[in-house]
Amino acid sequence: MEYSRFKQTKTELHTHLMGMLSAKEFLQLLVKYSNYIYWPINKTENENSEYIEFKYLLDNKNAIEAISIPLGKKVPYDKGLNNLYRNRSELLAFIIKQFASKHNISEKTAQQVIYNDYFNRCLKELIDNGVQYAEISFANEDLINCFKQNDETKGKLKYTFLLCTQRVNKIGASTKEKIKRAYENGIAIGFDFMGMETPLDDDELKETGRKSYYKKLNSVLEVLVKCPKSVLRIHSGEAFGTEENSEKIFKIIDKIKLDNGYKDFPPPELRIGHGIHYKKNDYYYDFLKKNNVIIEINAVSNNSLSNINSIEELPYIDYLEHGIPIVVSTDGHGAYSTSIVIEDKIAYYNYLKNKIPEAYTLLIKWEENYMEKKVSR
Ligand SMILES: [Zn+2]
Repeated sequence: MEYSRFKQTKTELHTHLMGMLSAKEFLQLLVKYSNYIYWPINKTENENSEYIEFKYLLDNKNAIEAISIPLGKKVPYDKGLNNLYRNRSELLAFIIKQFASKHNISEKTAQQVIYNDYFNRCLKELIDNGVQYAEISFANEDLINCFKQNDETKGKLKYTFLLCTQRVNKIGASTKEKIKRAYENGIAIGFDFMGMETPLDDDELKETGRKSYYKKLNSVLEVLVKCPKSVLRIHSGEAFGTEENSEKIFKIIDKIKLDNGYKDFPPPELRIGHGIHYKKNDYYYDFLKKNNVIIEINAVSNNSLSNINSIEELPYIDYLEHGIPIVVSTDGHGAYSTSIVIEDKIAYYNYLKNKIPEAYTLLIKWEENYMEKKVSR
């Protein structure tokens, strides 16, 4: 099949800022701001750390694997995810300190400079892969406010952010304020519940109490139902053993809708991040259809973090057969050594293997219409 057939999707809807930059480019960024680094970099810096010159790291396999999972490699879900993100943020924190002391500036200023550079390098990689619209998940509103596109990326891609929090975190009045403010200022389009997925426990399923998922979702929805074109992403159905999570979350949402008199969505546009493990029943599909939910498939992430045994297990066809739209996304292309082009190819070959290549054309058409709406916002 010719290359052009699977190089057509232009959106990146599920990505996390901290996982975006490719390992090679990440190391280049580190070298720019510091001459040396603690070693080994896959461990937190401590009194036993040695220090080596950065330039020796650039093609170092151990360094690359501390901040990314090479394509095709599998690591355990919990360890893989935690290590990647911890190593990346600790490395950035280290160079921020170095840069601040070298130039006698505050760490806050150094952080803004380095994160802005990081951000633009991320955008550049998306542009190079043909992405024209991106929604980026990130928690730090202050940093988002400081980001400015440089000349290399300006005008070549439209982007916005989803503010986010770990599912286990508290959602208080300040979070609600933050979501509203970021939406009104035009820096974020919505909110993302994320974190390593475990089965919802009894306390999370109660309608009251500190851990209540009802309370958390209710707070966020209170803001987003009033915001046209807003987005609520829920990370769900990602890990083995969480097959019941999505249905339980949908029931909580149904109760919230009933209690508040909300209509079906959107707004907000509800998107399920992953949605690969679920109980197949009418309620599940009906909820998705009724609320115009979009499923975001992140094939390489799922495979790299051992959330599937093989990419053959991904439910492209099941969603297709039930008329539920999916988008392909990366979950942070740099962390998983993937790109939207690779994710596209995987979807395309899945449809081809199932003898329905026209399903790929459908995916592209749907995405084109969808993007028009997004870009015209
Ligand atoms: Zn994600």
